[in-house]
Amino acid sequence: MKTTTSIDDKDEPPGGGTSLTGAAKTKHFVNPPFGERLSNQVLDGRRSEESALVQRALNVTPGSFPHNKFKIIPKSKPPFVISKRTRQFRRLFFSNVPDSQWNDWHWQVKNRIRDIQTLTKIIRLSPEEIEAILDHKNPLPFSITPYYASILDPADVNQAVRRTVIISNNEYHITPSEAEDPLSEDNDSPVPGIVHRYPDRVLFLVTGFCAVYCRYCTRSRIVGDVRKMHHISPQYWENAISYIRQHPEVRDVLLSGGDPLTISDSKLEWLISQVRRIPHVEVIRIGTKVPVVLPQRITKQLVEMLHKYHPLWMSIHFSHPDELTPETAEACRRLADAGIPLGSQTVLLKGVNDRVETMTRLNQGLMKIRVRPYYLYQCDPVRGTSHFRTTVEKGLEIIAGLRGFTSGYAVPSFVVDAPGGGGKIPLLPEYVAGRSGDNLLLRNYEGNIYMYPDPEGSIGDPLADCLVAEERQLL
Ligand code: SF4
Repeated sequence: MKTTTSIDDKDEPPGGGTSLTGAAKTKHFVNPPFGERLSNQVLDGRRSEESALVQRALNVTPGSFPHNKFKIIPKSKPPFVISKRTRQFRRLFFSNVPDSQWNDWHWQVKNRIRDIQTLTKIIRLSPEEIEAILDHKNPLPFSITPYYASILDPADVNQAVRRTVIISNNEYHITPSEAEDPLSEDNDSPVPGIVHRYPDRVLFLVTGFCAVYCRYCTRSRIVGDVRKMHHISPQYWENAISYIRQHPEVRDVLLSGGDPLTISDSKLEWLISQVRRIPHVEVIRIGTKVPVVLPQRITKQLVEMLHKYHPLWMSIHFSHPDELTPETAEACRRLADAGIPLGSQTVLLKGVNDRVETMTRLNQGLMKIRVRPYYLYQCDPVRGTSHFRTTVEKGLEIIAGLRGFTSGYAVPSFVVDAPGGGGKIPLLPEYVAGRSGDNLLLRNYEGNIYMYPDPEGSIGDPLADCLVAEERQLL
């Protein structure tokens, strides 16, 4: 067991920022004992008491202001929404941090929770969690933004979103089928930062930095250590851009990482504008979790900048309906209003979102904030993630529990990213029940069988299936 309590010292904020030292990091931190936590009710009570005092001072009753006599000075509006739950959290732990600072994404990044001392003030860690954190030896660092910490349950070790970001002892259990790079991305990388697997598109890993590190990350081998990713090296980006320029078949560039939206506006704009200038690049996509873990980053300036480079799409990484907060809704509203089509990517995680009911709530909630559920991924066999993996049947069961029971737009594609670099393989529950003469037998969402006239088809014919299998064996 390590004697140090430092969880990570290699992960630095992007854009030339520096991590704060322990003392500076906890500068804003206020730690009331758990017993002194204020409930929502108490806080609400205090708010209405305050408002009653103001009314009394003005000697008027609410709604009866004589408008010509008094001018009501509106409270200065925070530039970003702060939900009731988050406000309560902030009063408890960051009481001297004003709205303007809390809503400043740079402040959120600088004040990420990255050490056990700070974490224990916010969350009642179990003995297992403490041991796992002290024993931490994985390349994937630990980091949680104060905002995301506000949606974690301080008392429940099994809370879904908490499990996705707090280190567990299970990470140290490696199974034989797991690998550092299970999708063989490094093998499909012609130049550093580019993964060219599919014919018409490339993945461009633009940074190794994330605001929050997900414990099941497929790229845990590279994220969190900017010394590996060299994300601010102009040469690294230039080489990758030059590769795209030299490959006219590339019509779609997915900027990912790490999280591209953690890069400063000016650097991100330089990067996007360079890619946009390449004539054969039709579409730029950004893969990000920022609207979920650092929604304050979605500033008006950022969306105005992104708006200039259409067609630009965004895939947002969601895991659970608890992430659908007013802050995240506001971030998505700003992006959608800027004309950016939003899709979600969700990893199927055991004990986190592997129930039809949870996935229904998530996907219906996403539709309400104008995010189209896009992919549901079977969890990749990354080293130390077996505790998050469930069966492929479970994924199919969830898709069967969504299809027909809710809007088609709320049903993502369930895919397995084939280990070894085979790419995404979509899987569907079995809706073909067989064949009856000229008719195909189809099973609907309720399990009822219907006939569809298909005289020239052979799907569902067991004999035809056998012949196809035999032909394959002969090849
Ligand atoms: S946000 Fe994405 S890249 Fe970053 S840790 Fe999570 S899964 Fe990995």
